[in-house]
Amino acid sequence: MRSTVLLPLAILGICTLHRVDSEGWSYGGNNGLDWGSDANHPYCTDGDYSHQSPIDIQTSETVLNDKLEPFAFSNHWNLPVTHGELVNNGHTYQFNDNDGIRTVSGGGLEGAYTLLQFHFHFGSTNSQVGSEHTIDGGHYPAEIHFVMYNAKVEADLLGRLAVLGFFIDVSDTTDDTFLGEILLSIRNDVKTAAAGDRIDLNNTIDLSTLPETAGLDQYFRYTGSLTTPPCSPVVIWTVFHSPLLISQNQYNSLLGGTDEEGEVIENNFRIAMPVNDRIVYHSPGTVGAAEEKRQGWKYAVTAIGAALGGIVLCTLVAAVVMLVMKHKKTEAT
Ligand SMILES: [Zn+2]
Repeated sequence: MRSTVLLPLAILGICTLHRVDSEGWSYGGNNGLDWGSDANHPYCTDGDYSHQSPIDIQTSETVLNDKLEPFAFSNHWNLPVTHGELVNNGHTYQFNDNDGIRTVSGGGLEGAYTLLQFHFHFGSTNSQVGSEHTIDGGHYPAEIHFVMYNAKVEADLLGRLAVLGFFIDVSDTTDDTFLGEILLSIRNDVKTAAAGDRIDLNNTIDLSTLPETAGLDQYFRYTGSLTTPPCSPVVIWTVFHSPLLISQNQYNSLLGGTDEEGEVIENNFRIAMPVNDRIVYHSPGTVGAAEEKRQGWKYAVTAIGAALGGIVLCTLVAAVVMLVMKHKKTEAT
């Protein structure tokens, strides 16, 4: 279930003592608030954080974009990943697809984007907080990012990457078969591997059911950045409205791993960055997100109008009745 718990910036801000790993950054305890102070990661402040990710998506403020049609997945998604590997990178578990053949197009993207890797962001034991993006201020327990690239766009320009982000929710009854297989492959030897260690998962990663996932036409779109250093502002973000559902056991597959220094990998999400003047769009199919909320307001306004109308009508009726009674009384005298 989605949590409405927000991590107060003030509390996070005082947790400034933290370990820095070999790549020069960690989630530390303040979830990325200090990355910009590192001269090696100038994009992480981006001046005023105006193009940074993740963000909080306020659904009532998203704007309909008719060009955000459904995505088209290439047929290659039906094939097992021939050259796949799983990496404990010290921050998360990352699945590299070295086949370089699975593409998506459509979805308001210009041209085709090729799958490079996917990875997870998550919380900790019994935590309801773990997703990077939030919806109306609420976290989900986890989020998965499919990182796609377009080689025709220069590496440092917006549009070089397109990330497809799915929220992940923990359900009492659901064992998601697609994510379940993926999560099962995060074996204990990888979870405790030295950062950078990788294992081959050739022909065992099956992504064939992803294109069939319900609700792929319901998504939000905005322009932003990588959510880890160097925080490059080159990403066209897609955040799907409906979460993928997994069981508690499947979620637990993400927990208990360590980085190369033995520190537990958990709470690996960056805190929401300011939206500023960016527009967050929603696809025409995203009725359940923004439109429902607006409908709710309409109903509220209608109900208030009906109540006020009723009061006015009652007052008029009462006035007429009093006039008639007064008239009759006058006649009687
Ligand atoms: Zn990510």
